Amino acid sequence: MNAETSPILRIESVAKSFGPVTAVDGVSIDVRENEFFALLGPSGCGKTTLLRMLAGFETPNAGRILLDGRDISPLPPEKRPLNLMFQSYALFPHMSVRQNLAYGLEMERLEKAEIRRRVDETLSTTDLTQFADRKPDQLSGGQKQRVALARALVKRPKVLLLDEPLGALDKKLREKMQLELKRMQHEAGITFVIVTHDQEEALVMADRMAILKDGRLLQVGTPEAIYERPADRFVANFIGVMNFIDGRVGEGGLFEAEGLRLALADAGPGPATLAIRPENVALGALGEGLAGTIADIAYHGLDRVLHVKTAASPVPLQIRVPVSGTATHQVGDALSLRIDPARCRLFAGAAA
Ligand code: ATP
Repeated sequence: MNAETSPILRIESVAKSFGPVTAVDGVSIDVRENEFFALLGPSGCGKTTLLRMLAGFETPNAGRILLDGRDISPLPPEKRPLNLMFQSYALFPHMSVRQNLAYGLEMERLEKAEIRRRVDETLSTTDLTQFADRKPDQLSGGQKQRVALARALVKRPKVLLLDEPLGALDKKLREKMQLELKRMQHEAGITFVIVTHDQEEALVMADRMAILKDGRLLQVGTPEAIYERPADRFVANFIGVMNFIDGRVGEGGLFEAEGLRLALADAGPGPATLAIRPENVALGALGEGLAGTIADIAYHGLDRVLHVKTAASPVPLQIRVPVSGTATHQVGDALSLRIDPARCRLFAGAAA
Protein backbone atom coordinates (compact mmCIF):
# COMPACT_ATOMS: atom_id res chain seq x y z
CA MET A 1 0.00 0.00 0.00
CA ASN A 2 1.22 3.46 -0.84
CA ALA A 3 1.09 5.60 2.30
CA GLU A 4 1.13 8.78 0.21
CA THR A 5 -2.09 7.96 -1.60
CA SER A 6 -4.05 5.86 0.87
CA PRO A 7 -4.33 7.41 4.32
CA ILE A 8 -5.27 5.10 7.17
CA LEU A 9 -7.49 7.83 8.61
CA ARG A 10 -9.34 10.40 6.53
CA ILE A 11 -11.15 13.28 8.19
CA GLU A 12 -13.40 14.79 5.54
CA SER A 13 -14.98 18.25 5.99
CA VAL A 14 -15.88 17.45 9.60
CA ALA A 15 -17.84 20.05 11.57
CA LYS A 16 -19.27 20.16 15.09
CA SER A 17 -21.23 22.83 16.92
CA PHE A 18 -22.40 22.99 20.51
CA GLY A 19 -25.38 25.38 20.38
CA PRO A 20 -23.98 28.69 19.12
CA VAL A 21 -20.32 27.57 19.49
CA THR A 22 -18.66 26.14 16.39
CA ALA A 23 -16.02 23.87 17.93
CA VAL A 24 -14.80 22.30 14.66
CA ASP A 25 -15.42 24.12 11.40
CA GLY A 26 -15.06 21.99 8.26
CA VAL A 27 -11.74 20.27 8.96
CA SER A 28 -10.16 17.84 6.45
CA ILE A 29 -7.00 15.91 7.38
CA ASP A 30 -5.40 12.71 6.08
CA VAL A 31 -3.33 10.70 8.53
CA ARG A 32 -0.92 8.16 7.05
CA GLU A 33 -0.25 4.67 8.27
CA ASN A 34 2.34 4.45 11.08
CA GLU A 35 2.46 8.19 11.39
CA PHE A 36 2.86 10.07 14.67
CA PHE A 37 0.38 12.85 13.99
CA ALA A 38 -0.21 15.79 16.35
CA LEU A 39 -3.29 18.02 16.57
CA LEU A 40 -1.98 21.29 17.95
CA GLY A 41 -3.59 24.58 18.82
CA PRO A 42 -4.40 27.00 21.62
CA SER A 43 -7.04 26.27 24.24
CA GLY A 44 -10.52 26.11 22.73
CA CYS A 45 -9.35 25.54 19.14
CA GLY A 46 -11.40 22.33 18.89
CA LYS A 47 -8.67 19.69 19.03
CA THR A 48 -10.26 17.64 21.83
CA THR A 49 -13.65 17.76 20.13
CA LEU A 50 -12.05 16.49 16.91
CA LEU A 51 -10.35 13.64 18.79
CA ARG A 52 -13.60 12.72 20.54
CA MET A 53 -15.36 12.55 17.17
CA LEU A 54 -12.65 10.17 15.91
CA ALA A 55 -13.18 8.02 19.01
CA GLY A 56 -16.97 8.09 18.59
CA PHE A 57 -17.81 10.06 21.76
CA GLU A 58 -19.18 12.99 19.76
CA THR A 59 -21.17 12.91 16.52
CA PRO A 60 -20.17 15.31 13.74
CA ASN A 61 -22.85 17.69 12.38
CA ALA A 62 -21.28 17.34 8.96
CA GLY A 63 -18.51 15.45 7.17
CA ARG A 64 -17.19 11.89 7.30
CA ILE A 65 -14.48 9.96 9.12
CA LEU A 66 -12.96 7.07 7.16
CA LEU A 67 -10.68 4.42 8.61
CA ASP A 68 -8.98 2.30 5.97
CA GLY A 69 -11.48 3.65 3.47
CA ARG A 70 -14.52 2.69 5.56
CA ASP A 71 -16.89 5.30 7.01
CA ILE A 72 -16.82 4.66 10.76
CA SER A 73 -19.34 7.39 11.63
CA PRO A 74 -22.18 4.94 12.34
CA LEU A 75 -20.04 2.80 14.69
CA PRO A 76 -20.18 3.23 18.48
CA PRO A 77 -16.81 3.80 20.25
CA GLU A 78 -16.32 0.14 21.26
CA LYS A 79 -16.80 -1.07 17.68
CA ARG A 80 -14.18 1.28 16.21
CA PRO A 81 -10.75 -0.17 15.44
CA LEU A 82 -9.15 2.72 17.27
CA ASN A 83 -8.55 3.34 20.92
CA LEU A 84 -8.56 6.54 22.98
CA MET A 85 -6.08 6.92 25.81
CA PHE A 86 -7.54 9.26 28.38
CA GLN A 87 -5.64 12.04 30.10
CA SER A 88 -6.64 10.60 33.48
CA TYR A 89 -5.14 7.16 33.12
CA ALA A 90 -8.24 5.34 34.40
CA LEU A 91 -6.24 2.31 35.57
CA PHE A 92 -7.93 -0.37 37.64
CA PRO A 93 -6.47 0.24 41.12
CA HIS A 94 -7.11 -3.26 42.50
CA MET A 95 -5.41 -5.02 39.57
CA SER A 96 -1.71 -5.52 38.93
CA VAL A 97 -0.06 -3.97 35.89
CA ARG A 98 -0.25 -7.35 34.13
CA GLN A 99 -3.95 -7.72 34.94
CA ASN A 100 -4.63 -4.16 33.79
CA LEU A 101 -3.18 -5.06 30.41
CA ALA A 102 -4.83 -8.47 30.15
CA TYR A 103 -8.30 -7.23 31.04
CA GLY A 104 -9.17 -5.78 27.62
CA LEU A 105 -7.98 -8.94 25.86
CA GLU A 106 -9.97 -11.17 28.21
CA MET A 107 -13.05 -9.14 27.29
CA GLU A 108 -12.29 -9.97 23.67
CA ARG A 109 -12.19 -13.65 24.70
CA LEU A 110 -8.75 -14.29 23.28
CA GLU A 111 -6.99 -17.52 24.21
CA LYS A 112 -4.98 -17.51 27.45
CA ALA A 113 -1.67 -18.21 25.71
CA GLU A 114 -2.26 -15.44 23.19
CA ILE A 115 -3.14 -13.00 25.98
CA ARG A 116 0.04 -13.90 27.84
CA ARG A 117 2.16 -13.49 24.72
CA ARG A 118 0.72 -10.10 23.84
CA VAL A 119 0.88 -8.80 27.40
CA ASP A 120 4.54 -9.87 27.74
CA GLU A 121 5.44 -8.27 24.43
CA THR A 122 3.73 -5.00 25.34
CA LEU A 123 5.26 -4.95 28.84
CA SER A 124 8.64 -5.21 27.16
CA THR A 125 7.96 -2.45 24.57
CA THR A 126 6.87 -0.10 27.34
CA ASP A 127 9.72 -1.08 29.73
CA LEU A 128 7.28 -2.34 32.34
CA THR A 129 8.31 -5.99 32.68
CA GLN A 130 9.87 -5.42 36.10
CA PHE A 131 6.68 -3.72 37.38
CA ALA A 132 4.26 -6.36 36.04
CA ASP A 133 3.10 -7.50 39.47
CA ARG A 134 2.73 -4.09 41.08
CA LYS A 135 -0.55 -2.25 41.58
CA PRO A 136 -0.97 1.25 40.09
CA ASP A 137 -0.55 3.02 43.45
CA GLN A 138 2.92 1.44 43.78
CA LEU A 139 4.09 3.24 40.62
CA SER A 140 5.45 6.71 39.83
CA GLY A 141 3.59 9.15 37.57
CA GLY A 142 5.69 8.26 34.53
CA GLN A 143 5.25 4.54 35.15
CA LYS A 144 1.46 4.92 35.47
CA GLN A 145 1.47 6.82 32.21
CA ARG A 146 3.31 3.93 30.57
CA VAL A 147 0.79 1.42 31.95
CA ALA A 148 -2.06 3.45 30.46
CA LEU A 149 -0.24 3.49 27.15
CA ALA A 150 0.55 -0.23 27.38
CA ARG A 151 -3.09 -1.01 28.08
CA ALA A 152 -4.07 0.82 24.91
CA LEU A 153 -1.27 -0.71 22.80
CA VAL A 154 -1.92 -4.29 23.86
CA LYS A 155 -5.27 -4.18 22.07
CA ARG A 156 -3.44 -3.39 18.83
CA PRO A 157 -5.76 -0.69 17.55
CA LYS A 158 -5.19 0.52 14.00
CA VAL A 159 -4.99 4.03 15.36
CA LEU A 160 -4.31 5.12 18.92
CA LEU A 161 -5.75 8.46 19.97
CA LEU A 162 -3.99 10.24 22.82
CA ASP A 163 -5.41 13.31 24.57
CA GLU A 164 -2.60 15.32 26.20
CA PRO A 165 -0.92 12.04 27.24
CA LEU A 166 1.89 13.74 29.12
CA GLY A 167 -0.22 16.48 30.67
CA ALA A 168 -0.01 15.13 34.21
CA LEU A 169 3.79 14.82 34.27
CA ASP A 170 6.34 17.38 35.46
CA LYS A 171 8.56 19.10 32.91
CA LYS A 172 11.61 16.85 33.16
CA LEU A 173 9.69 13.61 33.02
CA ARG A 174 7.56 15.03 30.23
CA GLU A 175 10.62 15.68 28.09
CA LYS A 176 11.94 12.17 28.71
CA MET A 177 8.56 10.62 27.95
CA GLN A 178 8.24 12.56 24.67
CA LEU A 179 11.15 10.58 23.23
CA GLU A 180 9.97 7.37 24.89
CA LEU A 181 6.51 7.74 23.43
CA LYS A 182 7.96 8.20 19.96
CA ARG A 183 10.14 5.12 20.36
CA MET A 184 7.22 3.03 21.62
CA GLN A 185 5.01 4.19 18.75
CA HIS A 186 7.71 3.20 16.30
CA GLU A 187 8.25 -0.21 17.91
CA ALA A 188 4.55 -0.99 18.16
CA GLY A 189 4.01 0.07 14.52
CA ILE A 190 0.72 1.76 15.36
CA THR A 191 -0.54 5.09 14.00
CA PHE A 192 -0.76 7.71 16.76
CA VAL A 193 -2.95 10.81 16.74
CA ILE A 194 -2.10 12.96 19.70
CA VAL A 195 -3.70 16.16 21.00
CA THR A 196 -1.43 18.72 22.61
CA HIS A 197 -1.39 22.44 23.23
CA ASP A 198 2.39 22.33 23.70
CA GLN A 199 4.15 23.30 20.50
CA GLU A 200 7.56 22.05 21.64
CA GLU A 201 6.06 18.68 22.40
CA ALA A 202 4.53 18.49 18.92
CA LEU A 203 7.80 19.57 17.30
CA VAL A 204 9.76 16.88 19.17
CA MET A 205 7.37 13.99 18.64
CA ALA A 206 5.30 14.43 15.52
CA ASP A 207 6.08 13.21 12.01
CA ARG A 208 3.43 15.69 10.86
CA MET A 209 1.10 18.04 12.65
CA ALA A 210 -2.05 20.05 12.09
CA ILE A 211 -2.42 23.55 13.52
CA LEU A 212 -5.97 24.49 14.50
CA LYS A 213 -7.44 27.81 15.59
CA ASP A 214 -11.08 28.63 16.33
CA GLY A 215 -12.15 25.26 14.93
CA ARG A 216 -10.38 25.82 11.62
CA LEU A 217 -7.40 24.04 10.16
CA LEU A 218 -4.61 26.53 9.41
CA GLN A 219 -1.79 24.27 8.25
CA VAL A 220 -0.71 20.63 8.02
CA GLY A 221 2.91 19.60 7.56
CA THR A 222 6.10 18.25 9.03
CA PRO A 223 7.50 20.19 12.01
CA GLU A 224 10.31 21.45 9.74
CA ALA A 225 7.94 22.65 7.02
CA ILE A 226 5.71 24.45 9.49
CA TYR A 227 8.66 26.01 11.29
CA GLU A 228 10.39 27.10 8.07
CA ARG A 229 7.31 28.04 6.05
CA PRO A 230 4.42 28.96 8.34
CA ALA A 231 1.24 29.60 6.35
CA ASP A 232 0.24 32.76 8.19
CA ARG A 233 1.11 35.15 10.99
CA PHE A 234 -0.72 33.10 13.62
CA VAL A 235 1.20 29.90 12.83
CA ALA A 236 4.46 31.83 12.58
CA ASN A 237 3.93 33.19 16.07
CA PHE A 238 2.54 30.00 17.59
CA ILE A 239 5.41 27.73 16.52
CA GLY A 240 8.77 28.81 17.87
CA VAL A 241 9.89 32.43 18.22
CA MET A 242 9.36 34.82 15.32
CA ASN A 243 10.28 38.49 14.83
CA PHE A 244 7.73 40.58 12.97
CA ILE A 245 8.42 43.86 11.19
CA ASP A 246 5.39 45.73 9.84
CA GLY A 247 5.98 47.75 6.71
CA ARG A 248 4.98 48.21 3.13
CA VAL A 249 5.99 46.74 -0.20
CA GLY A 250 6.41 49.39 -2.90
CA GLU A 251 6.79 49.06 -6.65
CA GLY A 252 9.40 46.54 -7.75
CA GLY A 253 9.12 44.44 -4.59
CA LEU A 254 10.95 46.85 -2.29
CA PHE A 255 9.94 46.26 1.34
CA GLU A 256 10.25 49.36 3.50
CA ALA A 257 9.96 49.76 7.23
CA GLU A 258 11.46 52.40 9.51
CA GLY A 259 15.23 52.07 9.06
CA LEU A 260 15.00 49.05 6.76
CA ARG A 261 14.77 48.54 2.98
CA LEU A 262 14.87 45.09 1.44
CA ALA A 263 14.44 43.96 -2.14
CA LEU A 264 12.06 40.98 -2.18
CA ALA A 265 11.27 38.92 -5.22
CA ASP A 266 7.60 38.05 -5.85
CA ALA A 267 6.15 40.59 -3.41
CA GLY A 268 3.03 42.47 -4.53
CA PRO A 269 2.62 46.11 -3.44
CA GLY A 270 0.72 47.02 -0.24
CA PRO A 271 1.04 46.70 3.52
CA ALA A 272 2.95 43.60 4.63
CA THR A 273 4.71 42.06 7.59
CA LEU A 274 8.18 40.62 7.35
CA ALA A 275 8.82 37.62 9.60
CA ILE A 276 12.24 36.26 10.48
CA ARG A 277 13.44 33.72 13.05
CA PRO A 278 16.01 34.81 15.67
CA GLU A 279 18.61 32.35 14.31
CA ASN A 280 18.30 33.80 10.80
CA VAL A 281 19.33 37.37 11.64
CA ALA A 282 23.04 38.02 11.23
CA LEU A 283 25.12 40.71 12.87
CA GLY A 284 26.76 43.12 10.40
CA ALA A 285 29.27 45.93 10.48
CA LEU A 286 27.99 49.13 12.02
CA GLY A 287 26.39 51.41 9.47
CA GLU A 288 25.10 48.53 7.31
CA GLY A 289 21.63 47.03 7.65
CA LEU A 290 19.17 47.76 10.44
CA ALA A 291 20.59 49.80 13.31
CA GLY A 292 19.75 48.73 16.84
CA THR A 293 20.72 48.79 20.49
CA ILE A 294 20.90 45.78 22.80
CA ALA A 295 18.12 46.04 25.38
CA ASP A 296 18.61 42.67 27.03
CA ILE A 297 20.70 39.51 26.80
CA ALA A 298 19.33 36.09 27.73
CA TYR A 299 21.42 32.94 28.04
CA HIS A 300 20.06 29.66 26.69
CA GLY A 301 22.80 27.09 27.12
CA LEU A 302 24.94 27.15 23.99
CA ASP A 303 23.17 30.18 22.54
CA ARG A 304 22.41 33.62 23.75
CA VAL A 305 19.49 35.71 22.63
CA LEU A 306 20.01 39.42 22.16
CA HIS A 307 16.90 41.57 22.45
CA VAL A 308 17.58 44.48 20.13
CA LYS A 309 15.66 47.76 20.02
CA THR A 310 15.26 49.12 16.48
CA ALA A 311 13.13 51.75 14.79
CA ALA A 312 11.52 49.03 12.65
CA SER A 313 9.53 47.37 15.42
CA PRO A 314 7.89 48.47 18.69
CA VAL A 315 9.02 45.19 20.30
CA PRO A 316 12.75 44.41 20.53
CA LEU A 317 13.84 41.93 17.84
CA GLN A 318 15.30 38.67 19.10
CA ILE A 319 18.62 37.59 17.63
CA ARG A 320 20.08 34.20 18.48
CA VAL A 321 23.87 34.11 18.50
CA PRO A 322 26.17 31.27 19.54
CA VAL A 323 28.08 31.81 22.75
CA SER A 324 31.73 32.03 21.77
CA GLY A 325 34.81 32.89 23.78
CA THR A 326 35.21 36.15 21.95
CA ALA A 327 31.63 37.42 22.18
CA THR A 328 31.56 40.62 24.15
CA HIS A 329 28.02 41.92 23.71
CA GLN A 330 26.69 44.13 26.46
CA VAL A 331 23.39 45.79 27.14
CA GLY A 332 23.45 49.26 25.56
CA ASP A 333 25.81 48.30 22.71
CA ALA A 334 24.91 49.59 19.27
CA LEU A 335 24.89 47.03 16.51
CA SER A 336 23.68 46.41 13.03
CA LEU A 337 21.36 43.62 11.89
CA ARG A 338 21.65 42.00 8.50
CA ILE A 339 18.41 40.55 7.27
CA ASP A 340 18.73 38.16 4.35
CA PRO A 341 15.57 38.35 2.19
CA ALA A 342 15.93 34.64 1.36
CA ARG A 343 15.46 33.74 5.04
CA CYS A 344 12.35 35.86 5.61
CA ARG A 345 8.67 35.17 5.19
CA LEU A 346 6.41 37.95 3.98
CA PHE A 347 2.76 38.08 5.01
CA ALA A 348 0.68 40.45 2.90
CA GLY A 349 -1.96 42.70 4.47
CA ALA A 350 -2.06 45.12 7.37
CA ALA A 351 -1.10 43.75 10.79
CA ALA A 352 -4.10 42.77 12.91
P1 ATP B 1 -8.28 22.76 25.48
O1 ATP B 1 -6.85 22.75 25.04
O2 ATP B 1 -8.57 23.91 26.40
O3 ATP B 1 -8.77 21.44 25.97
P2 ATP B 1 -9.49 22.31 22.87
O4 ATP B 1 -8.75 22.87 21.73
O5 ATP B 1 -9.37 20.87 23.13
O6 ATP B 1 -9.17 23.14 24.18
P3 ATP B 1 -12.32 21.81 22.69
O7 ATP B 1 -12.42 21.19 24.04
O8 ATP B 1 -12.42 20.94 21.52
O9 ATP B 1 -11.00 22.69 22.58
O10 ATP B 1 -13.43 22.94 22.60
C1 ATP B 1 -13.66 23.72 21.44
C2 ATP B 1 -14.80 24.69 21.71
O11 ATP B 1 -16.02 23.99 21.89
C3 ATP B 1 -14.61 25.53 22.97
O12 ATP B 1 -15.10 26.83 22.71
C4 ATP B 1 -15.46 24.81 23.99
O13 ATP B 1 -15.92 25.70 24.98
C5 ATP B 1 -16.59 24.27 23.16
N1 ATP B 1 -17.11 23.00 23.69
C6 ATP B 1 -16.45 21.82 23.79
N2 ATP B 1 -17.25 20.85 24.29
C7 ATP B 1 -18.45 21.44 24.52
C8 ATP B 1 -19.70 20.97 25.03
N3 ATP B 1 -19.89 19.68 25.40
N4 ATP B 1 -20.71 21.85 25.14
C9 ATP B 1 -20.54 23.14 24.75
N5 ATP B 1 -19.41 23.65 24.26
C10 ATP B 1 -18.36 22.81 24.14
